[in-house]
Amino acid sequence: MQQAVRVEARNVQLSYGATPVLRDISLTVEPGEFFAILGPSGSGKSTLLRLIAGFARHQAGELLVGGKDVTGVVPWKRNVGMVFQNYALWPHMTVARNVAFGLEERKLARDEVRRKTAAALELVGLSGYGERRPSQLSGGQQQRVALARTLAIEPQVLLLDEPLSNLDARLRLQMRHELLALHRRLGITTIFVTHDQEEAMTICDRIAVMDQGVIQQVGTPLALFDEPANRFVAGFVGSVNLFEGALRADGLFASPALGDCRLPEGVALRAPGRACLAFRPHAVQLGTAAATSSSEGLAFAGSIAGAEFQGDAVRYEVRVGEAVVIAEQPHRRGGARWPEGTAVQLHVPANELRLIAPG
Ligand code: ADP
Repeated sequence: MQQAVRVEARNVQLSYGATPVLRDISLTVEPGEFFAILGPSGSGKSTLLRLIAGFARHQAGELLVGGKDVTGVVPWKRNVGMVFQNYALWPHMTVARNVAFGLEERKLARDEVRRKTAAALELVGLSGYGERRPSQLSGGQQQRVALARTLAIEPQVLLLDEPLSNLDARLRLQMRHELLALHRRLGITTIFVTHDQEEAMTICDRIAVMDQGVIQQVGTPLALFDEPANRFVAGFVGSVNLFEGALRADGLFASPALGDCRLPEGVALRAPGRACLAFRPHAVQLGTAAATSSSEGLAFAGSIAGAEFQGDAVRYEVRVGEAVVIAEQPHRRGGARWPEGTAVQLHVPANELRLIAPG
């Protein structure tokens, strides 16, 4: 196993023509981390990954791999391996030749090429498939060949661009676990690009959330979910109820949709001004009797406006004043379902309430 390396971007900027795609990106991926870059389509994730691989070039800032500035270093001299979304396998070559290609390019001795090819195929569970063509393999197997080809060159950094998006749901889940197991085994610094928040949350140590070429927040899955830095992160990582308003000097939160709310102590720890009140749908307690909970928090009266059965939960839309609050209630077999128009009491415990930046 090689020594794991750190990947660091410092104030990196990249534009295509007049269009800025990466704006002042600063990011540190620690040695051996399984790190995700998460964001919607067009946010700049792949560009950032291609930049680390050496397929794109920044106009300002520094990019360091293992402490060395790699600006201007060609991809094959970076010791960085990238697995592309569409696998990019050569259809006319056997699996073994596909995997061996990078090793041959590096002018390794034939024995060495054979040995490393076999080892890489074994690593991804494809020993015995070397003589097949990519078209004779399933999507999941092709994905593994692409992975083996990248791992064969023993990169110091593994870059994965939406590696699971071409697989069906069941296989995606299986490959998630395999990638995780492989990462544990190799301990290689791995950067994983995805637009799927669940995928990023379930397998990565830390996540950078990107939007419009800007890193919005970096943190563990738990930190991003529980302490989103702004409204974009709150809405992208999990679902959320968000209400704009203004925090007044006396601690009252005035929301055009919800009305005036007296926030519990400890929630309004910020300067007065515009803010968003945020809480997760699963944190809302619903009941038909008043005072569903005696704990501190916010209480509202509302009426059921709609319900969606999701199997493990029922997702209610509840009208509260001018607002619609989403409340998810765990479903139990034989449990009651409230019809539309039912008057309900809502309670959100204090520790589930957040005031976050409006932008
Ligand atoms: P993501 O991976 O998050 O979907 P990309 O990094 O692929 O986003 O793209 C970010 C933005 O950069 C998009 O608006 C895209 O159109 C633009 N872009 C990407 N590559 C090029 C290119 N080679 N030339 C011009 N614009 C590009």
